[in-house]
Amino acid sequence: MSKNDCCTCGAANAMQAFKGRSFNVNFKQLNRVVHGLDGHECTECAEIEFDAPSAELYAQAGDELVEDAKRVMAEEMKRIRRKLHFTQKNAVQLLSGGGHNAFSRYERAEVEPPKPLFVLMRLLDRHPELVRELQAINECADINALLVQKQQQREN
Ligand SMILES: [Zn+2]
Repeated sequence: MSKNDCCTCGAANAMQAFKGRSFNVNFKQLNRVVHGLDGHECTECAEIEFDAPSAELYAQAGDELVEDAKRVMAEEMKRIRRKLHFTQKNAVQLLSGGGHNAFSRYERAEVEPPKPLFVLMRLLDRHPELVRELQAINECADINALLVQKQQQREN
């Protein structure tokens, strides 16, 4: 097997050099472009093999994207919570449940917020008037009414 054979599909002499190309790095729905990458591409299966310095650059860009994304999510959690005039404790009681320090951990980027919570926060950012609904939702009168129905069905 020669150096220019593809080690993914095995095609002989199929790896062609490229220089200064741009590639996307992705994290969830977020992405960022890395420019100036050198390497080889298989003409048969399109497998990419970066040269060592470019591989390093690409990996570093990926790590930075993850780091920046976590930081931005944490900052958004904090900004939106403050905009809604919640303490971290209120936010846990009304929105997330779980440990009393959950929001503090999200806002320090110690853990990522669960996706449904992050979506909810962003919805409330766009529609802060919905905060009024939270108290009633948490009192669960509607769910309790459904439970009474269930009980009545069982007794009939
Ligand atoms: Zn190939």
